Amino acid sequence: MSIADQEIKKFENSNCAENKVFYQAMEEVIYSIAPLLESDSKYRDHSILERLVVPDRVIKFKVTWLDDQQNIQVNTGFRVQFNNALGPYKGGLRFHPSVNEGILKFLGFEQILKNSLTGLPIGGAKGGSDFDPKGKSDFEVMKFCSSFMTELHKYIGPRMDVPAGDIGVGAREIGYLFGEYKKITSTFEGVLTGKPFFFGGSLMRPEATGYGAVYFTETMLEMEGKESLEGKVCTISGAGNVALHAIEKLQQLGAIAVSCSDSKGTIHDPRGVDLDLLKELKLVKRTSLEFYIETHPEAEYIPVEEYPEGAHAVWDIPCYAAFPCATQNELNDVDAQNLIVNGVVSVTEGANMPSTPKAVNDFLSHKICFAPAKAANAGGVAVSEFEMAQNASMSKWSFEKVDEKLKETMQMICKRVALTAKDYGVEGNYVDGANIAGFKKVADAMIAEGI
Ligand code: NDP
Repeated sequence: MSIADQEIKKFENSNCAENKVFYQAMEEVIYSIAPLLESDSKYRDHSILERLVVPDRVIKFKVTWLDDQQNIQVNTGFRVQFNNALGPYKGGLRFHPSVNEGILKFLGFEQILKNSLTGLPIGGAKGGSDFDPKGKSDFEVMKFCSSFMTELHKYIGPRMDVPAGDIGVGAREIGYLFGEYKKITSTFEGVLTGKPFFFGGSLMRPEATGYGAVYFTETMLEMEGKESLEGKVCTISGAGNVALHAIEKLQQLGAIAVSCSDSKGTIHDPRGVDLDLLKELKLVKRTSLEFYIETHPEAEYIPVEEYPEGAHAVWDIPCYAAFPCATQNELNDVDAQNLIVNGVVSVTEGANMPSTPKAVNDFLSHKICFAPAKAANAGGVAVSEFEMAQNASMSKWSFEKVDEKLKETMQMICKRVALTAKDYGVEGNYVDGANIAGFKKVADAMIAEGI
């Protein structure tokens, strides 16, 4: 039995329904780091894996709030503080009806290695609630956020745990959460990142994950001897923070971003998506993409139910580079085959773990340049750390300074991942490179810090 199989066997009992995505993430990491475990026995001697896959603590709490009809609503809140070997816990909050402990454990686990890859002093965490901000008034969102923070504030702090946004948590929610924290603690401090700029946020935080994913892709394409993105057709899924800013940066670089999607359907606009309209629909009106074709009848809208089950319309559009930026497991093996047959050259994960394990294997075996989430979407957390640095020193950096540092960070991560893959005999495999490089740094810190 291989070392990886022996390690995975130890965790078989945790493979229950709620832990499905967490187990998926853990299994990928264990197979990836096998060459490291084989070359150095210290990681097994110190039981690093056994210690790393169990969060330091999981905080679960009740959130009660009053809706606009004066009815009492009850949701569940969570914070999974996974590992702080490298720095304070850091990771986003997700508000979505699908949120449960297993999903947050998967996201928190990925966050440990992602944060390690940035080279910045931050540990890994994730949190959120099954609250759905969709269809709620601003006042209801505020009520929910205040109640959520009434409990969460006990467990966070600028040197302890610094949450940020994720699905369903943008500047509006961060603003309300910060306001409540300030009220309860009477302190104005950098306890959350992703704050609006005029009260402590960093310039470029909203853009960071999407822009960062594109910077990573450019570097990867150059390192792999492929043509740049300029003039190339790109497909993007999602229509949220990450997708919108990936599209924006692609357009700035002269690429043709022809798609976006939400939970109800996909837009295919072969002339390039109208980003201003997209921002208006999603950020201002908070509505569905189907209204895009009202002003752009030449574009196609494909509702989810009209597409054959088991595949996604967005991945059936021929492209040079694909950017899954919506949610986990949104790109499966059927989608991967469609992309490969249509000649895709690179796939960059803007969302967390959007590709299923089979899809990833297909991309790797067909020598597609594949940028895994924990490396490619680390731009968001990197700029979050820059926000922490600005808050701590009471300073403000210019847009150009943050952009330059973001670009440098993404290039550094890409090169480090590629080099690590080469060092461990898996050249060109950015999945293994990212897992080994991210794991090694955290593991070495855990060994140095004792049990
Ligand atoms: P948003 O809430 O801003 O947007 C999410 C988008 O994905 C929405 O357009 C949503 O559609 C769509 N979506 C959600 N579920 C599905 C689904 N099942 N099928 C199709 N579309 C879906 O989130 P973000 O853009 O912030 O996050 C997207 C991904 O990126 C997540 O995986 C997140 O963890 C990851 N990420 C985000 C970072 C950030 O800085 N924000 C940092 C690193 C990773 P609808 O509008 O219909 O809900």
